Amino acid sequence: MTAASSARSILTRLHDVMASRTSAQDKLDRVVDIIGEELDSEVCSIYLLRDGMLELFATRGLNKSAVHVTRMGIGEGLTGTIAQNVETLNLAEAKAHPDFMFRPETGEERFHSFAGVPIVRQARAIGVVNVQHVDPRRYEEVEIEALQTVAMVLSELIDNAGLVDTEQAKSLQHDGQVQAEGLVLAKGLGSGRAVFHQPRVTIEHTMAEDIEAERQRVYRAFDTMREQIDNMTSQAEFGTGGEHEEVLATYRMFAYDEGWGRRINEAIDSGLTAEAAIERVQQRTRMRMREIDDPLLADRMHDLEDLANRLLRIVSGQLGTAATKGLREDAILIARNLGPAELLEYDRRRLKGVVLEEGSLTAHVVIVARAMGVPVLGRVANLRALVAEGDTLLLDADKGQVTIRPQAALVDAFEARFAQSKKRQAELAQLRDVEPFTRDGTRITVMMNGGLRDDLTSLKLVGADGIGLFRTEFQFLVSAALPARERQLRLYRDVLDAADGKPVIFRTVDIGGDKSLPYLRNEGASADENPAMGWRALRLALEREGLLKLQARALLEAAAGRELNVMFPLVSEPWEFDAAKAIFDDQLAFLRSRKAKLPEAIRFGAMLEVPALAEVLDLLLPKLSFLSIGTNDLTQFLFAADRANPKLAQRYDWLSPAILRFLARVVQTTQAAPTPVDLAVCGEMGGRPLEALALLGLGIRRLSITPAGVGPIKELVRKVDLAEIGAAMNGWLLNPPLDMRAALSAWADERGIAHD
Ligand code: PEP
Ligand code: MG
Repeated sequence: MTAASSARSILTRLHDVMASRTSAQDKLDRVVDIIGEELDSEVCSIYLLRDGMLELFATRGLNKSAVHVTRMGIGEGLTGTIAQNVETLNLAEAKAHPDFMFRPETGEERFHSFAGVPIVRQARAIGVVNVQHVDPRRYEEVEIEALQTVAMVLSELIDNAGLVDTEQAKSLQHDGQVQAEGLVLAKGLGSGRAVFHQPRVTIEHTMAEDIEAERQRVYRAFDTMREQIDNMTSQAEFGTGGEHEEVLATYRMFAYDEGWGRRINEAIDSGLTAEAAIERVQQRTRMRMREIDDPLLADRMHDLEDLANRLLRIVSGQLGTAATKGLREDAILIARNLGPAELLEYDRRRLKGVVLEEGSLTAHVVIVARAMGVPVLGRVANLRALVAEGDTLLLDADKGQVTIRPQAALVDAFEARFAQSKKRQAELAQLRDVEPFTRDGTRITVMMNGGLRDDLTSLKLVGADGIGLFRTEFQFLVSAALPARERQLRLYRDVLDAADGKPVIFRTVDIGGDKSLPYLRNEGASADENPAMGWRALRLALEREGLLKLQARALLEAAAGRELNVMFPLVSEPWEFDAAKAIFDDQLAFLRSRKAKLPEAIRFGAMLEVPALAEVLDLLLPKLSFLSIGTNDLTQFLFAADRANPKLAQRYDWLSPAILRFLARVVQTTQAAPTPVDLAVCGEMGGRPLEALALLGLGIRRLSITPAGVGPIKELVRKVDLAEIGAAMNGWLLNPPLDMRAALSAWADERGIAHD
């Protein structure tokens, strides 16, 4: 007998029971008889969760007087173990198992063999169905499979009859509070209910009415899924999707795997609906994989789980992500990974944080999250197994922790911290209109970095002196195709309108390498082995002139009648600046010939991110109005340490003598330029208090930093005496202390300058 025919003959009989108009108890009594007979077992028992215990609800073969009397805890005895681990047991000799526990009232001492499977609802056991036999024999695979199939149908019956409180089952089997660690991708605190970006499907109907119709549903769902995967693959090439190419390749492999489809078909043959069949096959695969202890396979299992969930969502018509349904309360989003465009679909007011199984510091989604002010924790291992939909989560993306189902005391402590951080925000907000003068009366320019339309709100909120770095590529990254000139123009114009006379420095697109875009396909961009050092930013823009021309036109038109500040990224040699500026000059000439309204003034600047440029800076400076040091890229090149590699994230300090001496030289060279050039730092370094202090000591007077840093840095500036920090820094540069950070920190402490 095959597994399908064995299950099918039971399901055919169960069908009548399910359809009958008798009580739930009566149905269970009949079900245990049917299973017992079909599996040739003296005993069949059903235990269900009630008030936190597994209670014997129906039995054939054990003493009937034990029904509703025999109870055991989760994890207690064989039945409790099955429920706790949500795992099948198949034993020739039950007593030989270490978890065996004898219950005299049941009269089970006569029976030797034992098999039990969990009855599962929303990934939690709500009960257990067992069979026992007098002969000491292990049940055959087909019998176990039949029992598992029956357990699925039982879960529907139990749910419909309201015999078990599913919510209670959830809280019982999750071991209370769990704390998980991850990598801080975007700082901040947030709390809310866990929402899965890709929601899990609850199966409503398990027994098929029309097997052929179910088969057709699965065929159609497979077609749709394959189409989706193909689309995702092309989106990934656009750099806008959330999944890595490697994952997508595995998705494709499974999506086109005939074995998977065949197994689902067999499960349908046994009488299950399409949804139940997909879940049934997935359960079986999960069990097999548990027996193989191989991390590589475990990864692939994640892929298959994702795909099975996708197939389930398609077949059940529960399409879309959690964003489609909308967030109903404060939420922390849970995902394996996420694309920037996907993140932008969520309601910002309710989205309090994001926790990812993957993710990296420079992932586009993280850059966007930072701009949205949403904290992000990444690389949380096994996240989706630890968290259940609706769990309360406390996300501490300052410390790199997420607490799942926190105890009350912890919630209180978290809220206290949260309140304190809000109070601090409020204090800082007071500084909005305060100008950052140092103690000795020097005005420091504190600007902010931006790139999204939403950033304009921050500009007003934090009271920055302007936007010192507007990352124009954000718009390119969150669109599926090259933004047309009109769209670019509209954004730039809106930004200038909102800035209301404050300067905005537009950086021309910094794309390429790992941020590949559709119109760059097949041109080697994504083939870079070393994307940060690859064909990116200005290097790419000079070869794909059309791209820069389009942007130049949009910027020049947007700034008609106003001042335009343009900055080129990753300039490595002076001629690159000349070539880029020439493109703007051409566009300007064209607009002039058309008698279009021109910008009132155009200022050009360059980013210093490539160390080689520092050696020829004197040649470039006479051409510039401003120079901005991009310490993010600069330090990765100075130390030859990938800025996206979490293993290196803490290895090299921005406060190392190498970096500080390098910056000191750049300051000197710039000060010696024949015409004044505004010198700024626009990397993340400038937004951190001790680092900002060091930069002031080096002679930097302009910073462009993350919006959240503007308040704290203004506060710091007002406590600093420039002559004093300048002298201290000179000394430290000549004779670097062993620990520069400790030295600066002590210096700040002595003067009551906060720097946490
Ligand atoms: C930098 O490299 O320091 C910088 C500001 O640019 P981005 O982070 O966008 O590369
Ligand atoms: Mg850079």
